[in-house]
Amino acid sequence: MVLERTFSIIKPDATRRNLTGKIIAKFEEGGLRVVASKRIHMTRKQAEGFYAVHKDRPFFGELVDFMISGPVVVQVLEGQNAIARNREIMGATDPKKAAPGSIRAEFAESIGENSVHGSDAPETAKDEIAFFFAGSDIVG
Ligand code: ATP
Ligand code: MG
Repeated sequence: MVLERTFSIIKPDATRRNLTGKIIAKFEEGGLRVVASKRIHMTRKQAEGFYAVHKDRPFFGELVDFMISGPVVVQVLEGQNAIARNREIMGATDPKKAAPGSIRAEFAESIGENSVHGSDAPETAKDEIAFFFAGSDIVG
């Protein structure tokens, strides 16, 4: 077991439905701690930069439009094996395939509007945290 940090976004479909607290409760009940948090409305440039890895996928334009359609909550979560743990708490990308009790099973509207983002590896977690937070913004 290793104490890790991961990056999370509560997406616009969830902020629109006022689900921020219910989603954070899932992280906390799952053993993760919120060590940085801010509510922002991403610019198109930020969303395109953040999702640059997906720029050649057919849903890229739709994904960027969605991510700037309303406010999001960007967070750093800390805990034992936080990267994998967060992805378990989130559930599969497609809510129809997400495990019962996971955030996406309970709250996601579709494969695109799926309520949360979570980093998928230590390197992406580091880069994604640095994309939105300075070291001094994170208080463990
Ligand atoms: P995330 O990166 O948001 O945590 P993920 O790692 O489960 O999700 P990715 O394959 O990285 O999934 O896709 C990034 C995001 O792109 C998804 O969360 C979803 O919002 C959107 N997306 C993925 N596949 C599709 C699709 N087939 N149609 C529409 N949007 C999609
Ligand atoms: Mg991903």
